[in-house]
Amino acid sequence: MTNSTQAHAEVAITNLGERATEARRRTLEVLLRAERPLSHTEIEAALAARGVLDRVTLYRVLDWLVAKGLAHKIEGHDRVWRFNATADDARGHAHFCCTDCSKVYCLTGIKPAFVLSLPPGFRLGEADLSLRGTCPDCQPR
Ligand SMILES: [Zn+2]
Ligand SMILES: [Zn+2]
Repeated sequence: MTNSTQAHAEVAITNLGERATEARRRTLEVLLRAERPLSHTEIEAALAARGVLDRVTLYRVLDWLVAKGLAHKIEGHDRVWRFNATADDARGHAHFCCTDCSKVYCLTGIKPAFVLSLPPGFRLGEADLSLRGTCPDCQPR
């Protein structure tokens, strides 16, 4: 629990000219600290450490963060949505979905080259490249 993550979350929201309500700030903080995209259940559990946020508010806040470009969501192999914060320099990255444990990983270092080679006249909105396989945790030892 570092204060810099808290400040980071607050600045990211207020930079958009939006109100950094407690629910928005705390939810974004959880996503910024996460090592990989989290499901609703995992986010609820992380928030519960400092007072529960009701489910309706959480769902609304997550949709708001996605709409504002502060977070993005990816569907896992289990068809459960997972959310992660979006860094400015990490837009359009690939995702890895484990077919064993259903965890999702942001591969921010992998940006598909095809987004740069669109025919003239096409303007890219967003790219979503999902790779499937088994993550390091699920490899046989
Ligand atoms: Zn796995
Ligand atoms: Zn991602």
